[in-house]
Amino acid sequence: MTRNHIALLSAALSLCTVANSQSILGFTSASAAREIEVENKFKSIPNPDEERRQHRIFTQEPHIAGSKRNNELAEYIAEEWKKQGLEDVVIHRYDVYGTNPKSASLEMIAPTHYQALLRETPLPGDDDSKNPAISGAWLGMSISGEVTAPVIYAHSGNPEDYDLLRKNGISVKGKVVLVRYSNPYSYRGFKALTAQREGAAAMLVYSDPQEDGYKKGKVDPDGPWGPEYHIQRGAITYDFMVPGDPQTPGWASIPGAKRIPIEEAVSAPKIMALPLSWHDAKPLLENMDGPVAPTNWQGEDWQGGLPFDYHLGGDRVKAHLKIEMDNGLQPYYVVEGRIRGSELPDEWVVMGNHRDAWVFGGVDPSSGTASMMELTRALGELKKQGMRPRRTLIVCSWDGEEVGLTGSTEWGEQFADDLRAKAVAYINVDEATSGPNFHGQAVASLAPMLEETTRSLQDPSGKTLYDAWKETIEREKKEGAQSSQFSDSGVASETLADTRIGSGSDHTVFLNFIGMPVLGLGFDGDYGVYHSAYDDFYWMNHFGDPGYKYHTLMSQLWGVTALRLANADLLAFDFATYASNIRQFVNELTRANERNMWGQPPSAVRPSEARQPQLDAKAILSAIDDFEAEGKRLNEALARRLSSGPLDPRLAAALNRGMMEVERNWLNPDGIPGRPWFKHILYGARFTYAHLELPGLTEAVEKQDWNTAKQQAEILERALHNNTKLLDELNQQLQP
Ligand SMILES: [Zn+2]
Repeated sequence: MTRNHIALLSAALSLCTVANSQSILGFTSASAAREIEVENKFKSIPNPDEERRQHRIFTQEPHIAGSKRNNELAEYIAEEWKKQGLEDVVIHRYDVYGTNPKSASLEMIAPTHYQALLRETPLPGDDDSKNPAISGAWLGMSISGEVTAPVIYAHSGNPEDYDLLRKNGISVKGKVVLVRYSNPYSYRGFKALTAQREGAAAMLVYSDPQEDGYKKGKVDPDGPWGPEYHIQRGAITYDFMVPGDPQTPGWASIPGAKRIPIEEAVSAPKIMALPLSWHDAKPLLENMDGPVAPTNWQGEDWQGGLPFDYHLGGDRVKAHLKIEMDNGLQPYYVVEGRIRGSELPDEWVVMGNHRDAWVFGGVDPSSGTASMMELTRALGELKKQGMRPRRTLIVCSWDGEEVGLTGSTEWGEQFADDLRAKAVAYINVDEATSGPNFHGQAVASLAPMLEETTRSLQDPSGKTLYDAWKETIEREKKEGAQSSQFSDSGVASETLADTRIGSGSDHTVFLNFIGMPVLGLGFDGDYGVYHSAYDDFYWMNHFGDPGYKYHTLMSQLWGVTALRLANADLLAFDFATYASNIRQFVNELTRANERNMWGQPPSAVRPSEARQPQLDAKAILSAIDDFEAEGKRLNEALARRLSSGPLDPRLAAALNRGMMEVERNWLNPDGIPGRPWFKHILYGARFTYAHLELPGLTEAVEKQDWNTAKQQAEILERALHNNTKLLDELNQQLQP
C-alpha cells in the first residue's frame, strides 16, 4: 500500500466513524444498533415522580443500621424487586459488631457552667425535623466512659496539629481535645486514632461555620448550608486498617462465624468521641485561654467562622463528659437481586447502594436508594419486554456502610471466590445527588468507557452529560488553581473521570480485596447538612434536587453504564490508558521522593546519599512501557475485530475472560505492608480516606524504608510483567 492509499483509507475510515454515530466501545456495529435501541427504551422508563415517591419512602423515618426501620426497608426492597421482575431475590444476614448510643452528656464546669444540648432543634417548615425518633449527638464505635478534664483546641485533629500544640508546651494527655471536621478534610476516624495515640481521654468534633455553615451561604431552612444546631454524626471505625465487622477481619460474619475478641480488633477505636453542633462548641471555644490560635501554621488557618479569637486552650475550660454506648452483636441485612444473563450468566456486573442512614439520609444515601429503585424498575421492565442482558446483572442494597463499610465488606468476603471468577465490574452509587455537578470515578481502564457513556445522556441543563461534566471539571480546575484543592484530580488533562480512588464507600471491598474494576457515580453541590437530621426530604426538595431530575438522570446513567458492560461483545477495557495512569503515579512518586531527599538539611544526608534518591524507577517505567505497548496493540486489534462483523463466540469468551483477569493481577495476596486486607498494589487509601496510589511502594518511600520499597517495586514490576504477558497472549489470539 502506498502512502496515498493509506491516507485515502484513513480518510474513509474516519468518515465511517462520523457517519456511523452508532459506534460504541466494545460493540460490533450490529450489536451497537441493538444496544442503542435497548438503552433508549431503558432511558425512557425512570421518571421524576417515581424517584420522588421512592425518596419519600426511604426518608420517612430515621433508619440507622441495625434499627427496626432499616430492617423493614430491607424487606420492602426485596418485595419491590420481586414485583419489578428481579430474580433470585435474597436477604443475607450478617451478625456483626454494631454500635448504638444509650446516652451522652457534656457539661462545661469551668469557668462557667454550660450544659450542651446535643440535639438538633426543629426547623420552621420542615416537619420531619420534629420527629421524636431523631437521635441525639453520637459517633459510631465510640467507647463508653466518663471524664472530667481541661479542653484543648486541636484544630483539625491531624498529627501536624499536635506538633503545634507541643511547640506551645501544651500536652493533651488525659485531656479532652476539641477538633473541627474539616480544614482540611480528614476522616473523623483518623482524627480519633490520632487523639488516641496522643493520649487524649476523649475527642469532641464539631462543625465550624467556616466549613459548612453560615460563612458559606444561607443555612437551612433558607439555604443548603448547615444551621446552628446541625450535628454531623458518623462512625470513627478504623476501617482504613480493615473495613467491615472488626471481629471478622478478612472473612464473612455469617451467623456462627469465628470471631476475634474486640480487644484484639485493630479497627475498633479505644477512645470516647462525640460530635457537636457549633452551638454547643461555641461556649467551650469562647472561654479558652492559652495562646491565640495562628492564622497560618503550615498553610492552615486555625481561626474559624465564629466571631471571636480562637485560643489553643490551657486549664481554664474544664468539661465533664459521659458516654454510654451499647456496642455488641447485631444483625445487618444485605438485599441481593439479579437479572440472569441470557448468554453469559456466569459473567457478573454488580451494582450497589447502601440503605442505612445516620438519620433520614436525604442525600446520604436515600437519593442513591431512590435512584436504585428506579434503576431496578426499568431493568425489570426491559426483562418483561424480552430484553434480557447478555451478562448477569446483580444489584445489592448494603447495610451498615456508615459504620465501617460493613454490609458490602461481609458480602464481598463471603462471595470473594465467585466474584474473582465471574465479576466484570462493580458500579457504586452512594449519594446520588446533592446538586447538579457530576463526578465520575473509574479505575483507569474503564475511564474511556464511562466518558463515552455520558455522551449518550442528557443533562437537565440541556447539554449532554459529557459536556456538563467537562464544564464542571474545567471550572473546578480553575478554582483549584487558586485553592489547590482540586489540583490533583484527574490524571491527564483530557480525562474527566477521576481515576484516583480512595476509600469511604462500598466500592472498597470490590477494588481492594477482590480486585474488581470499580466505577463510582454521583452529582454534588452545596451541601452543609451531611449526616445531620436536616439531611432530609425537605432539604432535597428545596435545595438538592427539587425536581428530582438528577435522581432520574442517575438512574439512567447507572443503568446505561451497567447495560454496556453487560451487553458488550468485547469488554471495553482500555489498558493503554491504565498504563499511562500508572506511569503518572510512578512519576509523581519519583518527583516527591526527589523533593524529599533534596529538601533535607545537608547534615541529615550522608555524602554517598546526597542527591541520590533511593527509588530507582527505571525498571518499573520500562515494564510500564511494555504493558502500554501491548495495551495499544490490543485496543487496535479489538477495534479491528469488532469492525469486521460477527465474532466467534469462543474467541470472544476467551478474550473477555483474559481481560477480566487483568485487575485481579494487581492484587498482592499478602496485602500492602501493615494492612494485609488491602491487596491492590495500584489503589489504596490513606488513613484520612484520601486516595493513595501505589500504596505499598508510596508508604515505604515516604518512610524511607528502602528495603520494603525495593520489595514493593519488585511486586509492581512482576504484576506489570504478568499483565503484559496476558495481553500478549490475547493479542496472539487476535492474529488473523
Ligand atoms: Zn453514604
